[in-house]
Amino acid sequence: MRVSLSTYGSRGDVEPIAGLAVQLRALGAEVRVCAPPDFAELLARVGLPLVPIGVWRWPRQRRTETACPGTGSRMAEHMVVLAGGGPTGLMLAGELALAGVDVAIVERRASQDLPGSRAGGLHSRTIEVLDQRGVADRFLSEGQVAQVAGFAGTPLDISDFPTRHPYGLALVQNHIERILAGWVDELSVPIYREREVTGLAQHDAGVVVELSDGTSLRAQYLVGCDGGRSLVRKAAGIEFPGWDPTTSSLIAEVEMTEEPELGIRRTPSGMHALGKVEY
Ligand SMILES: Cc1cc2nc3c(=O)[nH]c(=O)nc-3n(C[C@H](O)[C@H](O)[C@H](O)COP(=O)(O)OP(=O)(O)OC[C@H]3O[C@@H](n4cnc5c(N)ncnc54)[C@H](O)[C@@H]3O)c2cc1C
Repeated sequence: MRVSLSTYGSRGDVEPIAGLAVQLRALGAEVRVCAPPDFAELLARVGLPLVPIGVWRWPRQRRTETACPGTGSRMAEHMVVLAGGGPTGLMLAGELALAGVDVAIVERRASQDLPGSRAGGLHSRTIEVLDQRGVADRFLSEGQVAQVAGFAGTPLDISDFPTRHPYGLALVQNHIERILAGWVDELSVPIYREREVTGLAQHDAGVVVELSDGTSLRAQYLVGCDGGRSLVRKAAGIEFPGWDPTTSSLIAEVEMTEEPELGIRRTPSGMHALGKVEY
C-alpha cells in the first residue's frame, strides 16, 4: 500500500498526520508526508523524511492500448479519463498525476482561451491548496492580492488569520486556466483537444468513452468535469437537484474612454460594481 499524506500549516495538523504515518508504516505501508519545511524536525524525530510540498510524485503507472471489442482496432487506455479541461478538470488532472495515476483529459476547446473573464480570482483556501502542490507562486506573481472575503455584502478582513496566505487574489479565469494548463502539461497529462465525449458504456472492468471524432478511449474511471450541463452526469443518470434562481446577475465587459470610480454601489434597483479586467 502506498499512502501520501499532505498537510499545511499548523502543528495541530502535522502531529496527528505524523502519528497516522507511523501507524501506517507499522502496517507495512510505504508512506510519504508532504508538509511545509518548518515541520522537518518534528517528522525526523519519528523517522519520517519530510517531502517538500508539490515537488514529489508517485511514479506514473504505465499507459496501455487494448483491442477494441468487435473491431480488433487499438484503443488508448488510461486509468482515469476526465471529460472537460476547465478549472475542475485541470485541477483534478494535476492531483491525480502527482499521485502517479495515469490520467488524460478530453476537451472540446482547441485552447484554454475563454470568450469572457468569468471568475475574478481565488480565495485564501484555494491559494493554500495550490501552495500545497507547489504552484501558488505562479498565480500570485500574475495577480493582485486583496482582502476579498465577505459575508452577505459585509467585508471580512482576514489579514491576521494563521495562514501563509491571509488574502484573496484578483486574477481572471482565463489566466487561472492558462497557468493550470501549463502545470498539467509539465506533469505530462495528455489532453485530447478539439473533440467531445459523446457517450459512454460501462462494463464490469471500466468504461468505454466515445469521442466525437469516432474514436474511443478505455478507462477504469470516467469523471465528468464537463460543466453544469455535464453530458457525463446525465449519461450516468445523476440528477442535478436544486432550486430555481431567485437572483440574477449580469456581467458586461466594456471599453470606456474615462476611468470611472471603481467599487461596489448599492442602489434601490440592486447592487452593481465596476472593476478592471486586468489590474
Ligand atoms: C459569464 C460567467 C461569469 C462567471 N463569473 C464567475 C465569478 O465571478 N466567480 C466565480 O467563482 N465563478 C464565476 N463563473 C463560474 C465559473 O466560470 C465556473 O464555476 C467554472 O468555470 C467551473 O469550472 P468547471 O471546470 O467545473 O466547468 P467549466 O468551466 O464549464 O469547464 C467545463 C469544460 O468541459 C468542456 N466540455 C464540456 N462538455 C464537454 C464534452 N462533452 N466533452 C469534452 N469537453 C467538454 C468545456 O469546453 C469546458 O472547457 C462564471 C461563469 C460564467 C459563464
